[in-house]
Amino acid sequence: MTVIEDLIAALGAGKVLTGESIGERYRSDASMTGRFLPLAVLRPSSVEDVSIALQICDRHRQPVVPQGGLTGLAGGANARSGDIALSLERLSGIEQIDTAATMTVLAGTPLEVAQRAAEERGFLVPIDLGARGSCQIGGNLATNAGGIRVIRHGVTRDNVLGLEAVLADGTVLSSLNRMTKNNTGYDLRQLFIGSEGTLGIITRVVLRLRPLPAARLTALCALETYGDVVSLLNSAQRDLPGLSAFEAMWENYFRFNAEALKLAFFDRTPPFTVIIEEDVAGSDLDRERFEAFLGKAFEDGLLADALIAQSEKEARAFWSVREGHLMDQLLPGLVNLDVSMPIGQLGDFAADCETALRARFPAAHVSFFGHVGDSNLHVAVWIDAAGEHDLHEIDAIAYALIRQYQGSISAEHGIGTLKRDFLDHSRSEAEINVMRRIKAAVDPNAILNPAKVIPPDA
Ligand SMILES: Cc1cc2nc3c(=O)[nH]c(=O)nc-3n(C[C@H](O)[C@H](O)[C@H](O)COP(=O)(O)OP(=O)(O)OC[C@H]3O[C@@H](n4cnc5c(N)ncnc54)[C@H](O)[C@@H]3O)c2cc1C
Repeated sequence: MTVIEDLIAALGAGKVLTGESIGERYRSDASMTGRFLPLAVLRPSSVEDVSIALQICDRHRQPVVPQGGLTGLAGGANARSGDIALSLERLSGIEQIDTAATMTVLAGTPLEVAQRAAEERGFLVPIDLGARGSCQIGGNLATNAGGIRVIRHGVTRDNVLGLEAVLADGTVLSSLNRMTKNNTGYDLRQLFIGSEGTLGIITRVVLRLRPLPAARLTALCALETYGDVVSLLNSAQRDLPGLSAFEAMWENYFRFNAEALKLAFFDRTPPFTVIIEEDVAGSDLDRERFEAFLGKAFEDGLLADALIAQSEKEARAFWSVREGHLMDQLLPGLVNLDVSMPIGQLGDFAADCETALRARFPAAHVSFFGHVGDSNLHVAVWIDAAGEHDLHEIDAIAYALIRQYQGSISAEHGIGTLKRDFLDHSRSEAEINVMRRIKAAVDPNAILNPAKVIPPDA
């Protein structure tokens, strides 16, 4: 029997899509690194289904690509023509929210669904990103997603207490820990977080929840230098106990997006604009402290101007510039690099990167924004009618600089296929070899997301 016949016999035809019944949505993730028609798409509805499917695929040495919400930006969820995609979309739902602030969910649950369910019980899911409506908790773990609340709550791996994953041979590894402290040998959950579907398929997750803040204060700040941005960050970390976002936009980025949205905030576009947000209990005292913090920053010469949102709508307007959704429409094929390095060096890196990119592509759009508080910078680059060779050159120019700055080529989006061949810019040969040995130990037939993350052995 072929692998497809085996899968249909074990799971039923309804869970195995082939040929033209494979919808467009399974053919590409959000990286836009190509569209592929996989050999089949599996849609398991239970952990047992996932286990049976992997046993069969392992026996047939059949490559399997886990697919979550397909919002990934590194090509990791793309299944090539001979691959089988395994979609987690039917493995969705909240299984438990306990009063001691933990939540157990199936991996295919959309992040926003988990957020709403937690809010109804007075809790906050500490993970949040722009793709919240489509990305899944399992995908968030597999990519160790960052997002806009990292400065307060850490990255995804800091908010996971336990998980369940199915290994390539079908073994269900249940590590659904709900304790904060558990020092019983290797921390296996961390192996799967950030592994981009190469070591196992995550099926269940236990998240640590936080108290839901009663209110949020938001300011849009104009600054003259990157040095002032860093000083403002230091003061905010010292004086705002609930600091929950510190997002910086360089001049080009802010101007482009504000104009696209037809929004005007300051008399002129400042060299740097920062959104500061604080989670608070909601008393007048909180607001007074927030205003006093901004007042002091003025006196200290750090701020050129600042606006405090007077409503949720105004705060959304600030964020809409930062999220820059119109950019992708106005600049089709826009490249969004996602890098990190020590916070103090981000300003110099941005200047060097712009010079290097413009030397090669004088007419390019180059702009910068990022989660500065988490040492994470996004580089937006657009070249009219860019070909594959141009895109590779953009990566090569930016990542060569990253290597020089001893930074990371991926702060949050992951490696996937897009950055695989640059992994050695941020990881040593010894580190990459250990990754290869771990992969060989848990997936000896290399069926799980092959050709992703780890470059082939030379
Ligand atoms: C508008 C927008 C904003 C974004 N903002 C951010 C941001 O602020 N921070 C950030 O970090 N990312 C961001 N991203 C990237 C993306 O949303 C995240 O990487 C997200 O965590 C991916 O989740 P997903 O369910 O869509 O995964 P997919 O794209 O489906 O898959 C991503 C990778 O994880 C693997 N995978 C998926 N599910 C599983 C599973 N259950 N078990 C094992 N492997 C699995 C896939 O094989 C693939 O390698 C953004 C993307 C968009 C489109």
